[in-house]
Amino acid sequence: MNIVVLRDSIPGEARVALMPESVKKLVALKVSVTIEHDAGLAAARSDDDYAQAGAEISSDRNALLAAADILVTVNRPPKEVFSQLKKGAVVLGFLRPLDEPQALAPALEQGLTTFAMELVPRITRAQAMDALSSMATVAGYKAVILGASQIPRMFPLLMTAAGTVPPARVLVLGAGVAGLQAIATARRLGAVVEGYDVRAAAGEQVRSLGATFLEVDLGGLKTEDAGGYAVELSEEALQRGRDLIAERARTADVVITTAQVPGRRAPMLMDEAAVSGMKRGSVVIDLAGSTGGNVVGSQPDQSVERNGVTIMAPTNLAATVPVHASQLYSRNVTAFLGLLIKDGELNIDMNDDVVGPSCVTHAGQFVNQRVAAAVNSTATH
Ligand code: NAD
Repeated sequence: MNIVVLRDSIPGEARVALMPESVKKLVALKVSVTIEHDAGLAAARSDDDYAQAGAEISSDRNALLAAADILVTVNRPPKEVFSQLKKGAVVLGFLRPLDEPQALAPALEQGLTTFAMELVPRITRAQAMDALSSMATVAGYKAVILGASQIPRMFPLLMTAAGTVPPARVLVLGAGVAGLQAIATARRLGAVVEGYDVRAAAGEQVRSLGATFLEVDLGGLKTEDAGGYAVELSEEALQRGRDLIAERARTADVVITTAQVPGRRAPMLMDEAAVSGMKRGSVVIDLAGSTGGNVVGSQPDQSVERNGVTIMAPTNLAATVPVHASQLYSRNVTAFLGLLIKDGELNIDMNDDVVGPSCVTHAGQFVNQRVAAAVNSTATH
């Protein structure tokens, strides 16, 4: 059985789906791994590193795809890649199944079995495969570093012979995986940090990192679902949050927004008044840019200036830390591959409580109910 990794061709993408340490583990499972020439270069891993780990290296993409039993990717491959794979081959990666379900139609037509890392259920057994959390961790960290390098001042409190330098103030909106990592990183750099989330459970986590939790009275409203995710709030409840955010943003040097509601547009948390009330030289980093953004006027992958306030919305921050992002992702996909391989052969058990729910297409059908519904709704619009 042959696992294949290609060099990613998306602009700005520097991650690689498998790092050499994972190749070693897979080879030990009695499968062969073939890496496209220079696939790991942007993540500081050479063809030699892969060869030493036991991989084959090839520059012949056509031959690689024709011989692949499993293609492991970071991003969804282009449709010509799907059409070169053999029927029954497996594709595993971030496939954007709910955002762009139609883009997986070529995989369906080709009779491929596709698994989306976004669909891996967040149950205890699948924690080692939680690639969304891995990437959110990297993005939360990098957002603070980006913010710190943008503002015209330092982060920590300094007592110098020339007087005291006050600490920077950081406001983090949404205290899930990315938000908590942002809070922890900003604290380590010495900033005074405030965090906000609609889930009450986030309060304890924010405080445990040495930040202040901003609480909004939502009148006992249900804010999270059974899976621990936020639910979409009413406009009135959202406005209460926005009022408090606008007030706290006035004194912030960096605001990092990470609020998302699965399957919905990201909530708008900072309106015109909130942004215009901010200090000149302050920066907003909107990490929800790919799902519509949390901040008025933020543009995906652009830096916009409004009255001296810079608004940035990088959509792929994880790719700017390619070594660690690849290392974490590679471990996540390798743990998932462990569920698909038995005695060196492909063995797909759709009744498995991680494998089944993560599958998008199999045997010519969209097997995931949410994806099937998303395909139907895009087809009727
Ligand atoms: P996410 O990316 O979907 O959302 C980020 C944050 O935005 C969440 O904390 C959410 O509550 C918040 N948010 C949504 N609407 C908001 C609003 N209007 N105002 C302010 N904040 C708002 O979430 P995520 O980071 O992927 O994870 C969220 C939850 O899932 C957390 O409780 C996390 O601990 C849990 N989780 C569990 C597992 C597991 O059990 N294996 C793994 C990862 C995450």
